[in-house]
Amino acid sequence: MEEKINYNDIPIVYCKRCHSLRIMAGDTFSDYCDNCGSTDLGNATIYEWLEEEQKFKNKKVENYGRRS
Ligand SMILES: [Zn+2]
Repeated sequence: MEEKINYNDIPIVYCKRCHSLRIMAGDTFSDYCDNCGSTDLGNATIYEWLEEEQKFKNKKVENYGRRS
């Protein structure tokens, strides 16, 4: 029997502030983002994260274009 891995179902942890996937997980300290140090983390599937990543990038571009 061949087992199919559905990557959409694999849960990942990401940083809600900078969207990094470089999360440091510890037993003696709270998990935090290795990129910006934030402890505001979220859970998602890789598919959800990619969607968020797209929004995140679009938002950045929007902000660049809108110089107020
Ligand atoms: Zn971060």
